[in-house]
Amino acid sequence: MEGFFCQRFLVERCFSCQMCSHCCSGEPGYVFLSLADIRRASGYLEVKEEEFLSIYCRKLDYGTYYIYSLKERDDFSCIFLREKGCTIYPARPLQCSTYPFWKGLFDDDEAWEREKRSCPGIDIGRIYSESEMNALSTMTVENDIYKEPKEGDDSLSY
Ligand code: SF4
Ligand code: SF4
Repeated sequence: MEGFFCQRFLVERCFSCQMCSHCCSGEPGYVFLSLADIRRASGYLEVKEEEFLSIYCRKLDYGTYYIYSLKERDDFSCIFLREKGCTIYPARPLQCSTYPFWKGLFDDDEAWEREKRSCPGIDIGRIYSESEMNALSTMTVENDIYKEPKEGDDSLSY
């Protein structure tokens, strides 16, 4: 399989998910949610957004507002992970679907090398151009994470 490993040029990275689910389990972590993520996953599961938040999400205190992350089980696996993989895969949060093309990861050689230890899909398979990686990274949830006010209007908003 030697030929399967791609040669990377300076402005490209290789990645092909091996569907091992390692990034969905193993250690404690956060999958932060945007309003679009909440709406997409609620629609997929056919539940109300409020139900989705109370059943599947953790509410985290961020000072003047709350944000939400997916719940984990006692073994730190994601609440949506089952034996065959992610049960909301077509509607998974942007944080999941854009991995590993996050700022500070794909654009940092050392961080990219470190990440290879936990993701077997890194540096093999499909080649991503710099513009593709930048487009994916700008889609990440950091820009529009859902913030719930602590007082007053508690309707869904940014
Ligand atoms: S750890 Fe990497 S290869 Fe495994 S499921 Fe996650 S993204 Fe895919
Ligand atoms: S939502 Fe799906 S892809 Fe994202 S961490 Fe959970 S199981 Fe993994």
